[in-house]
Amino acid sequence: MKNFRKNTMIAFDDAFEIMMGSARRLDMERVGIEHALNRVLAEKIISDIDVPPFNKSAMDGYACRRADLANELTIIETIPAGLPAKKAIGQNQCAKIMTGAVVPEGADCVIMVEYTESAGDNKIRFTSKDTEDNICLKGEDINKGDVVLRAGCKIAAQHIAVLANCGCVEPLVSLQPRVGIIATGDELVEPGQKPSACQIRNSNGFQLAAQVTNAAAIATNYGIAVDTEEDIEAKLTKAIAENDVVILSGGVSVGDYDLVREILEKNNIKLLFEKVAVKPGRPMVFGVSDEVFCFGLPGNPVSTFVMFELLVKPFLFKMMGHDFKHVVAYRQLEKTIARKKTERDSWLPVVFTKNGKVAKIEYHGSAHINALCKADGLLCIPAGAAEIKEGTTVAVRQI
Ligand code: AMP
Ligand code: MG
Repeated sequence: MKNFRKNTMIAFDDAFEIMMGSARRLDMERVGIEHALNRVLAEKIISDIDVPPFNKSAMDGYACRRADLANELTIIETIPAGLPAKKAIGQNQCAKIMTGAVVPEGADCVIMVEYTESAGDNKIRFTSKDTEDNICLKGEDINKGDVVLRAGCKIAAQHIAVLANCGCVEPLVSLQPRVGIIATGDELVEPGQKPSACQIRNSNGFQLAAQVTNAAAIATNYGIAVDTEEDIEAKLTKAIAENDVVILSGGVSVGDYDLVREILEKNNIKLLFEKVAVKPGRPMVFGVSDEVFCFGLPGNPVSTFVMFELLVKPFLFKMMGHDFKHVVAYRQLEKTIARKKTERDSWLPVVFTKNGKVAKIEYHGSAHINALCKADGLLCIPAGAAEIKEGTTVAVRQI
């Protein structure tokens, strides 16, 4: 692992590598599929059956032989879904069949009821020129013994359907990281209170809890710690005892009351980095001990938001064994974006315009959290670059 001098600003990629390299895998548990949504699968799933399990009609219609399509066909039985076909189809015969029912022996296609007409007593005639087979063949989607899902898969609704299909009603999933959240700052009051002239509401605590929940982890909000060693330490000690990860917001900068770094070190948390070349979000502390991982995020809400998305979120998923990838859209930039200082990656809120391009929105800096509510995503001007020219295809990270 790379090692950094205390207090040096490091590149985002280095910070990412250090952080991801120190993640520990959590244990596993079995949960019912009704509780498996958004959990990370910790075993591979093998199908115990062919899917579909039999040749299945894809239409309501008549099962028959393609060779007889020009002829009048005699209906020999009706086959509902869920019951076996009793008879094989012979020359100029058909069986009325429902969607999902077993296609009888001898039939090689199902003609849609819409393309048939009565041809007298118990007979029908095909009224179109040609037809698809309209048969879902046994095992065409999944063969018995196939690996259908792999460990590390984050379970979405479609994965739940596949689990159900394979009879896996209690998948093995990773435990969810328990994440304690502490907002530090003398100026903070809880959102239910009206702030005085020199106070602000604690939005980070709730924002972070929501981000943690979105990252499939379990959030506990420890409320506000005032900027004293005693209060921060008391809340930190409790949060460390009860969680796998602790996130503190505020107090990591260079102000007189920014105590988080010292308190972490005093509590045997080894700091692996303290500043990352990202805007917003430079003062960003990551520390580890045998019991816990600690993130000290800068207090401005956009910094907190961005640093969580860029670093904490992939880290939490790594603890669950999932390789998280942000959703990225590639579009052309509508107007050149330029800047003077180039030492950090800059993340800016942007929107997708009506003509399918990407445009900057009004943004006053890292305290301007409501700008993110109007944004479709974040655009990065990488460290070293002074501008991105109009017309460049850019990657927008959706939020
Ligand atoms: P700090 O990182 O403690 O220097 O705080 C930077 C800025 O973020 C200050 O303007 C704080 O008032 C603001 N801030 C800190 N904590 C929070 C919070 N929990 N919710 C909203 N804003 C905060
Ligand atoms: Mg502060």
